[in-house]
Amino acid sequence: MIIVLKPGATEKEIESVENKVRDSGLQVHLSKGVERTIIGAIGDERKVDAAFFEVMDCVEKVMPILKPFKLVSREFKQDDTVLEIRDKVLGGDRVVVFAGPCSVEGRDMMLDIADEVKRSGATFLRGGAFKPRTSPYSFQGLGVEGLKILAEARERTGLPVATELMDTRDIDLLVEYADIIQIGARNMQNFKLLTEVGKSDKPVILKRGMSATVHELLMSAEYIASQGNANIILCERGIRTFETATRNTFDISALPVLKQLTHLPVIADPSHAAGKSELVQDLAAAAVAAGADGIMVEVHNNPEAALSDGPQSLKPERFASMMKRIGAVSAAVGRGI
Ligand code: PEP
Ligand code: MN
Repeated sequence: MIIVLKPGATEKEIESVENKVRDSGLQVHLSKGVERTIIGAIGDERKVDAAFFEVMDCVEKVMPILKPFKLVSREFKQDDTVLEIRDKVLGGDRVVVFAGPCSVEGRDMMLDIADEVKRSGATFLRGGAFKPRTSPYSFQGLGVEGLKILAEARERTGLPVATELMDTRDIDLLVEYADIIQIGARNMQNFKLLTEVGKSDKPVILKRGMSATVHELLMSAEYIASQGNANIILCERGIRTFETATRNTFDISALPVLKQLTHLPVIADPSHAAGKSELVQDLAAAAVAAGADGIMVEVHNNPEAALSDGPQSLKPERFASMMKRIGAVSAAVGRGI
């Protein structure tokens, strides 16, 4: 990092900064100009907090050189990470599609929807058994029973299953029943949860928090990777802005930005971004065109009666037409589905 001292910093102050740099395990590179003194702190600065120097009276500003995330960065690993999940490949040439209801509401509906999305070409099944609801009075999910239904849907269709983990105490259950663990937007910075999934080797979908920056998303991914689990899939699902025409604002630019900054696969969830089923198809097409490695969409056979997120859920026929559309877009950008 580069530490710029205030004009008129005394020799004693310069020395105190130099000592602090050395004490932090970094080397000093001193540059004394006519007006300013600049100290280069050389070495792996990621373990040293810039605030450690900013707090000193003689310091004007501190400029980190390295990105604060390491293991998940493109600099650390140039090639795209490709995940093999059962017999599916994520992050390779083909765009993958996660589809299923917001919540697993029961056996019949889950199996029915699973059959429908499989028929239209989905790659993975999604469905929440533990639901993060804004209201404590809303449907909270079927819990373990929901996980068992998802496992049955996987056996029946051959589609691997992704489902959300909300509580560290449930991790063994998810490892047992699910193929991919989802960390939802509301828990993107639940660091205990991130650490726990980092200790397992299950692939993790990390959804972007609704008010999180791209850098914060990557720092959360770094939490998981730092525990040894590099099987991480990042998911843009819309962020909160002043705009009220959609449930969230789909940050399409996050997709190419993430692809530049990280080697991890990146997927997009246009359902939670849009909040309205009639917008989902267009946003899904845009996401594929912008380089997403996959799409996650909510599908329900009776959205009017859904226990969560009905308005944004595609009916199976609409899902089938979305699949055709993103198939055409992915072919146009040199990928298949
Ligand atoms: C979900 O996938 O159903 C969900 C709750 O998503 P998010 O965490 O992005 O709101
Ligand atoms: Mn949902």
